[in-house]
Amino acid sequence: MKKFTGVISPPYSLVPFPGFTVEDTVRAADDFGHIVGSRPLGVFAPPSVAALREFVALAGPQGLPVTARGGGYSVYGQSQAEGGYVVDLGSLDEVRCAPAARTLTAGAGARWSEVVRAALAEGLTPPVLPDHLGGSVGGLLSTGGLGGSSHRYGLAADHVRELDVVTGAGELVTCSRERHPDLFDAVLAGLGQCALIVRATLDLVPAPTLVRRFRLYHHSPGTFFADQRSLARDDRFSHVCGQARPALGGAWDYMIEAVAPYTGQLPYEEPLLTDGLEHDRDTEEIETLSYGEFLRRMDRDERILRTTGEWQRPHPWLTLLLPEEAAPGFVPTALADHAQSGLRACGVVQLRPLTSRALRAPLLRRPRGELLCLLSLMRTAPPGAPENVREAVAANRALYERARELGGVLYPTSALPMTGEDWRAHFGPAWETLARAKDRYDPHSVLTRGYGLWA
Ligand SMILES: Cc1cc2nc3c(=O)[nH]c(=O)nc-3n(C[C@H](O)[C@H](O)[C@H](O)COP(=O)(O)OP(=O)(O)OC[C@H]3O[C@@H](n4cnc5c(N)ncnc54)[C@H](O)[C@@H]3O)c2cc1C
Repeated sequence: MKKFTGVISPPYSLVPFPGFTVEDTVRAADDFGHIVGSRPLGVFAPPSVAALREFVALAGPQGLPVTARGGGYSVYGQSQAEGGYVVDLGSLDEVRCAPAARTLTAGAGARWSEVVRAALAEGLTPPVLPDHLGGSVGGLLSTGGLGGSSHRYGLAADHVRELDVVTGAGELVTCSRERHPDLFDAVLAGLGQCALIVRATLDLVPAPTLVRRFRLYHHSPGTFFADQRSLARDDRFSHVCGQARPALGGAWDYMIEAVAPYTGQLPYEEPLLTDGLEHDRDTEEIETLSYGEFLRRMDRDERILRTTGEWQRPHPWLTLLLPEEAAPGFVPTALADHAQSGLRACGVVQLRPLTSRALRAPLLRRPRGELLCLLSLMRTAPPGAPENVREAVAANRALYERARELGGVLYPTSALPMTGEDWRAHFGPAWETLARAKDRYDPHSVLTRGYGLWA
């Protein structure tokens, strides 16, 4: 994409910017989901934070929708701006690590791969990272950010020390737990409703040099969920996630991926790490990786999927947070449902244990109870089959409604039609706080309309 590099000085006019091509606007009308399309007026790549502030200050009073875009990995139009402007934050990508303070400051458009590179160069790491490092800092923090270590350390958003944001009123504000805490809480996991993040200061912790990765296979969901439950509680592994995988005869097998820092005491520690777990010991896989290699584990998958073309196909994904006690019944039933059969052919089913006490950002809604289970159905639709995508989105909706009856909650990076009423129910007691913050910080209601919160 060509960047708008000229100095923009008043008077501005909100017409498509010079230097942008039709292709730029076409790209901004789509996202990784390839399900929802929109007609933006144009794309704006702010050359500076000041330019972004002035841009938003102009757009608001004219009622022009403004949506930030980082990596564009949203799956249902959340990074699009129907009838308005997509702000491409790729140019705000500076990353600076302050090892003495154990912090890192990143522009909102910086990719997590760059954050990881800069932090690891100092022997440090963010405590929570997403599996895929291609998204932007602003994109992940606005949704929350769950990773393999979330059972211990919560969201990526829970480790933000300070934010610089541009509010919908066109003001540049620095906020933190101490300064403007209402705005800070409204922005983290706040779905871009009150302000656009332009810079974030993240806490870092010491990074291990090497890790030991265990893949532990289960043939029954009962033992799988029991082991995930105990691993979520006892902290013996720093990272825990899992998958359901298609097995013969229409069945599903389950796999826990658990990672611990390599301390030099291995192999003597290994029996202790897997002590009491009920997996199939004959098929367990154990390997040593550098921590950086482990963090970049999706790079290879992405390269393969790009080559096969699956990366470019529609992604009707659904992610739910379930009360842990509901998961052993809900998950096998959902996977046996004919409407989900596409997952067997082309997709990944992820299952992550989470602990409620670790999740702090108030706008990340979660089920009641101490333990939770994240279920992510990441399916890829066949090319040229829009009816298949429509069916998958309808199946997502049906599954969401079943999960809701059991106390389940949506993780909002999903391909799911939601009404204003759904969102109000989703946020529950936090809705009034969010609505007050919206009135105050985005008085013209122009920011991030793609979620349809106020429809
Ligand atoms: C392969 C893959 C793996 C993934 N793995 C994980 C995972 O492990 N954990 C997890 O939590 N998520 C995961 N996700 C989801 C992904 O992290 C989120 O969709 C994230 O928002 C993507 O970041 P992005 O920069 O591409 O955001 P975009 O798609 O560009 O934007 C997403 C939303 O954030 C808003 N936004 C973007 N930048 C800003 C900003 N600066 N200020 C305010 N709002 C902003 C956008 O307007 C939009 O509403 C995964 C996605 C993919 C495709």
